[in-house]
Amino acid sequence: MRIPKSLIRMRRRTADFLHGSAVALAYHRVADVDPDSDPHRLCISPERFSEHCAAIADRFNTPTLSEVVTALRTGTVLPRRSVCITFDDGYRDTFTAALPILECSEIPLTVFVSTRNVCEQHPPYWDELLALLPDREAYFAWCAKLEKLSPDARDEQIALLRKAQGTPSSALTAGGCSVTADELSTFARHQLVTIGGHTHRHPLLTVLSAEQMQAEIETNQLLLEPLIGYRPSLFAYPYGTADSFDTTTVAVVQSCGYHAGFTTQWGQIRLGRDLFRLPRIDIASLDVDEALARIESFFGTS
Ligand SMILES: [Zn+2]
Repeated sequence: MRIPKSLIRMRRRTADFLHGSAVALAYHRVADVDPDSDPHRLCISPERFSEHCAAIADRFNTPTLSEVVTALRTGTVLPRRSVCITFDDGYRDTFTAALPILECSEIPLTVFVSTRNVCEQHPPYWDELLALLPDREAYFAWCAKLEKLSPDARDEQIALLRKAQGTPSSALTAGGCSVTADELSTFARHQLVTIGGHTHRHPLLTVLSAEQMQAEIETNQLLLEPLIGYRPSLFAYPYGTADSFDTTTVAVVQSCGYHAGFTTQWGQIRLGRDLFRLPRIDIASLDVDEALARIESFFGTS
């Protein structure tokens, strides 16, 4: 049976009124890039991001994501109409471009970092492919293929492609740069910044065995801890789609001591939600009015 939209809106509004609720936003990069260099639409321009932040600070509460998770864990009331900002992967412009903008509005951010990008300065495979496959159809076909492989098999395929093209790995810098380990150490101590886990090599966790999953999640956590000065307690599943986590994934994330797991499935965060399947919404491609309308819809007010 389909639930009428009016009923969904009323339920969201009631949840927010009674216990408070939150919406977590998922961004990736803040950069002015040619759309051709950004096939996955990961970038939002600094101007548009500034508009988003100013409007969010104006209309919503902006607790840290850790405060929201603690409220859910302890059953305490959340600030009404809370909005949290998250960034995935660990691109350098998260800290050099997004953070100064967030500072202006005093909005905290949580950054879910994949450690291979940082510790080895190894670009995510989608950025490596961008340099190798200028043809968009071929690029997306390869992305779809590589996404379903283990990180080892993925590396092997990219090495073969690179060899076939005679492209040295040092030439592969088409996408954005990752923050360095030293930079991450500094930025992690910023009062607005919380760092969370996002695996070591950004695999689709459900294609791995439980042991491989554990290794990816644990390696990431163990590498992050000395860099950031604490054990990360918030986790985001790479990709975050329905096929990117299952009961085994959730059990492994829990066994590593994480307090919460975030997806990229849309929804309102409220008391009673499964802490390891928490939703986030994407508004990076929207202008400020569209972005606000989308956020408001999750509080049941549009
Ligand atoms: Zn990611």
